[in-house]
Amino acid sequence: MLSTAHHADVLIVGAGLAGLSAAHQLTGAGVAVSVLEAAPDVGGRMSTASVDGFRLDRIGQLLSTSYPELRRTPGLADVPLRAFSPGALVHSEGRHYRAGVTGSARGALAAARARASAPRGAVTPLGGALDQARLGKALARLAATPVERLTARPELPIGQALLGRGLPARTLDGFLRPLLSALLCDPDLTTSSRCADLALRGFARGRLCVPAGGAATLPELLARALPPGTVRTDVKVTSVATTSVTTADHGVLGCRSVLLATDAPAAAELLPGLRVPDFHPLTVLHHTMARSPLADPALLLDADRSGPVAYTSVMSEVDPSRAPHGRALVTSTVLGPPPADLEDAVRRQLARLYATSTRAWELLAVHHTPQAVPSMPAPHDLRRPVRLLAGLYVCGDHRDTGTVQGALYSGRRAARAILTDLGVPSWQATAEVIHKAA
Ligand SMILES: Cc1cc2nc3c(=O)[nH]c(=O)nc-3n(C[C@H](O)[C@H](O)[C@H](O)COP(=O)(O)OP(=O)(O)OC[C@H]3O[C@@H](n4cnc5c(N)ncnc54)[C@H](O)[C@@H]3O)c2cc1C
Repeated sequence: MLSTAHHADVLIVGAGLAGLSAAHQLTGAGVAVSVLEAAPDVGGRMSTASVDGFRLDRIGQLLSTSYPELRRTPGLADVPLRAFSPGALVHSEGRHYRAGVTGSARGALAAARARASAPRGAVTPLGGALDQARLGKALARLAATPVERLTARPELPIGQALLGRGLPARTLDGFLRPLLSALLCDPDLTTSSRCADLALRGFARGRLCVPAGGAATLPELLARALPPGTVRTDVKVTSVATTSVTTADHGVLGCRSVLLATDAPAAAELLPGLRVPDFHPLTVLHHTMARSPLADPALLLDADRSGPVAYTSVMSEVDPSRAPHGRALVTSTVLGPPPADLEDAVRRQLARLYATSTRAWELLAVHHTPQAVPSMPAPHDLRRPVRLLAGLYVCGDHRDTGTVQGALYSGRRAARAILTDLGVPSWQATAEVIHKAA
């Protein structure tokens, strides 16, 4: 519609979730888009390796079925998600506890079933009935609280904020702290209480889940649903201006607008002056064994912090497509800098967590990502500007929250700003008008 002699109306730099989400909003509004990706594949940090029939994520992905952008982003409507069993399984002092099951009788029933299938009948509820009821009530209240109310609350580091919430120490130490550390990839709980409440609200409103087939499924689905030729891989951008980008091997490409959708450090290299946040480092380990050590697709948290692993799961129980027939896959995540004796320490800890010998377990892969997730200390701006000036825009998880939801939503916001400047009504805005009129 707007195409001129330029390469495309909008050039998007980076084919991670943010760039691909923006590309969908823009192509949906009839704008010609080209997405330039430096790597040979799309997806950025959402990558999955195929090794001997296993699907091994670089990241210990925890999504929630309640993430709005998973449903709203065109191209992701039918994304296959595999849910963990309700709530989480907590390991403390040699026992497993089920905690954080919220909502319906269906959820409670599923939890009871999960309890029944656990080994040696070791799963017992966290604390007494009163603790469980108080936790359930607090989570249900959070689930029903509008986002605007949560984000208007006073902002503190979440570790500090939790102390003033009237919950027993057993619930805090035995469930909320390990759960929030896992959801925020933040072992010290320095994250803004607003971001933490949003993460906990997502947990309370849905089920924790992973994309079937690995994290790479999301960007691959998004890229496949774009018009053919929209995404160009192996194109590294070396500088940007409002009407062109310069590439390492493909010359200068002209356009009407540029959207920078890289990670924060790469964005600051291309546009010096952009803020680069600190990052939480993460290490993910994949082990395989002949038999599943836990017949439950649960997220298993270590409340005692008895080793470097913060959370682990039998991934082949959650998503059977990630392991070849006859093999089980355990995926474990270490938050923060890994210790020098990482592999031995993890093996010892997993033996305690799964109450089984891990000597014969085979280590398939160790992925360490020093700049995995942008940290979000208080005060955290949940909506950093995406429009730098007319013709130059920026998106990515560093503009919203450091999550899949944040990356997708930042792409939506940036696309909306571009469409406004180009004078093109977005299809979504049009759809909303039609909906209201109907
Ligand atoms: C180990 C780990 C664990 C995580 N766990 C979770 C979790 O449990 N839950 C959750 O919600 N989120 C999690 N995340 C965060 C989530 O993966 C990210 O927030 C999200 O994928 C970021 O997407 P993005 O598009 O903003 O950036 P990226 O995925 O970084 O995409 C940026 C893209 O830009 C490309 N690029 C960079 N420079 C150039 C250039 N010069 N020219 C062209 N292209 C360029 C890169 O190659 C990349 O493909 C985790 C991340 C990691 C690494």
